[in-house]
Amino acid sequence: MNVLIVYSHPEPTSLNGAIRDYAVQRLSDAGHQVQVSDLYAMQWKAQLDAADSKARRGDAPFHPSLDSKHAFENGLQSDDIAREQDKLRWADTVILQFPLWWFSMPAILKGWIERVYAYGFAYGVGEYSDERWGDRYGEGMLAGKRAMLVVTTGGWESHYSARGINGPIDDVLFPIQHGILYYPGFDVLPPYVVYRTSRVDDGRFAAIREELGQRLDTLATTAPIAFRPQNAGDYRIPALTLREDVAPGLAGFAAHVA
Ligand code: FAD
Repeated sequence: MNVLIVYSHPEPTSLNGAIRDYAVQRLSDAGHQVQVSDLYAMQWKAQLDAADSKARRGDAPFHPSLDSKHAFENGLQSDDIAREQDKLRWADTVILQFPLWWFSMPAILKGWIERVYAYGFAYGVGEYSDERWGDRYGEGMLAGKRAMLVVTTGGWESHYSARGINGPIDDVLFPIQHGILYYPGFDVLPPYVVYRTSRVDDGRFAAIREELGQRLDTLATTAPIAFRPQNAGDYRIPALTLREDVAPGLAGFAAHVA
C-alpha cells in the first residue's frame, strides 16, 4: 500500500526522528511505498493567509473559507498545498506523527491541516439537505483511506488514564481523530502512543520498535475506531444530535463511538 507519514519534529536526532526512521524502514521492508512530509525540513508555511492563492477573488477582502474554495475549484492554490493534496490522494494510509505539545499537535502540523484541508477537498463537500449534512464524518474525499496517529507524550500513561489528571488519551485526541481525520472520511485506527518519553532508553526503544512494528504490519487489518457515521441514522439532521435511542444516557465524546 501507499503510506504517507506527515511528520512534525524540529530535531532529526530526537526520539520522534528515530521513530520516524524506524517506521519508514519497517514499512519499506514490508514492500509498501512510503512518502514522508517532514514539515520542519520542508520549512512548511504554517499560517493560512491570502498568499495561499495564486489569484484572489477580485477585490473582495480575504476570506479564509471562500478564498480556499475559489483557489481549490480553479486550480489556483499555492503549489505547496496542491502537492500535499496529491500525496493524500496517493496514500492508502496516512500517519500523523508528532510529540504532544500543549495537549495537541505542534503548530506547524496544525497549519498543514488548515492549509491542505481546503474547502471542497476536506470540507464543504456533498449535499446539504434534510437527509444529509454534507459528505463528512465517515464520508468525504478521503473515505476509503486509513489514518493513524503516532504520538509521544511527556506525561505518564496513568496521567492519561480514565481518571488521570490530563484526561483520558481518547478524549485528548478526540478533536484530532474525530474532528480532523474522521471528518473528511478517514477510517481512524487506534493511536500508537509513547508515554513518559523522558524514561526512554535503549531497552525501552527496543520495545517501542516491537510494538510499533506490530501496528505497522497490521495497518490494513486493524479495526478502526467505531465512530458513528453522520448520515446513517444515528443523528438527527440538521440538529446533528444523537437520537434518544442511540447510546442512551451517554454524553460527551464517548457517545460518538459505537
Ligand atoms: P526526545 O526529547 O528527543 O527524547 C526523549 C527521550 O528518548 C530522551 O531521554 C532520549 O535520550 C531518548 N531517545 C531519543 N532517541 C532515542 C533512540 N534512538 N533510542 C533510545 N532512546 C532515545 N507532554 C505532555 O504529556 N503533554 C503536553 O501537553 C505537553 N506539552 C508540551 C509542550 C511543549 C512546547 C513541549 C516542548 C513539550 C511538551 N510535552 C508535553 C512533552 C513532549 O510531549 C515530549 O517532550 C515529547 O513527546 C518527547 O518527544 P521527543 O521526540 O522530543 O523526545
